[in-house]
Amino acid sequence: MDTLNKRTNKGKVYLVGAGPGDPDLLTVKALKTLRKADIVFYDDLVSPRILGVCRKKIQMVYVGKRLGIHSCLQDEINTKLIQAANEYKTVVRLKGGDPSIFGRVGEEYSTLISAGISCEIIAGITTASGVASSLGFPLTHRDYAREILFLSGHKKDGVNSDSFKNLNCVGKTIIVYMGLNSIDLIVSELLVAGNSSETHIAVIQNATLNTERVFTGNLDSIQSIILENQVKSPAILVIGEIVRFYREMEILKNDYSSILTSL
Ligand code: SAH
Repeated sequence: MDTLNKRTNKGKVYLVGAGPGDPDLLTVKALKTLRKADIVFYDDLVSPRILGVCRKKIQMVYVGKRLGIHSCLQDEINTKLIQAANEYKTVVRLKGGDPSIFGRVGEEYSTLISAGISCEIIAGITTASGVASSLGFPLTHRDYAREILFLSGHKKDGVNSDSFKNLNCVGKTIIVYMGLNSIDLIVSELLVAGNSSETHIAVIQNATLNTERVFTGNLDSIQSIILENQVKSPAILVIGEIVRFYREMEILKNDYSSILTSL
């Protein structure tokens, strides 16, 4: 218990990252915190297997969004967290990936601190890192990408096209969270910015889960690839030469496995 808890006699809220989906990508610290939780508030992108590590009979409260409608507004979540901290010793707010990346953790953290409640952020593996390891490509590579950009296709009041205006993709790995529904705008902004229509792009659905699907193309083809394959959320976009690296490695792996099977 830290000083704030001792003084106020309130519980502590842990803002915990659940990783991108594969339960094995949960950090040890997150696992330990979940195991001692008295109540857990969780989002859509948290896999049921991860929820399964919690003690039986504790309260599990769903606060995600379904069918694109927020079942719980952020203010309501903040209020629920404060109430829970008055009632329980260990409160967990569980979010997909890393709570610090497009996870609205700042709003919750500042609300709790302002209410005199002790809270701690527990890092998770963000989808970008999860997908890179799952597919077998690095996010940076001295020959392909010396910079990484984490962008969101969505902002508080709708589609985010600002981040893509004048964006030069050369030498960068660009990861777009929440970009599936904004794909048309993203592609057109990148083309207007002067990027080649051959710029490599991949879309990955359900990264790190056994339902993972990956499709690669370029700025010209990606919209029809997404449509034809009915790619659904959650999906992440990876843009840049690192996608070419991934494809080359896949070809090499296939070549080796066909040699081996023909022996
Ligand atoms: N905090 C999270 C991101 C939350 S924003 C993180 O660090 O990963 C939600 C977006 O993350 C989704 O719209 C999608 O773009 C991406 N995402 C989360 N889990 C994913 C998964 N398993 N596969 C593909 N994309 C995922």
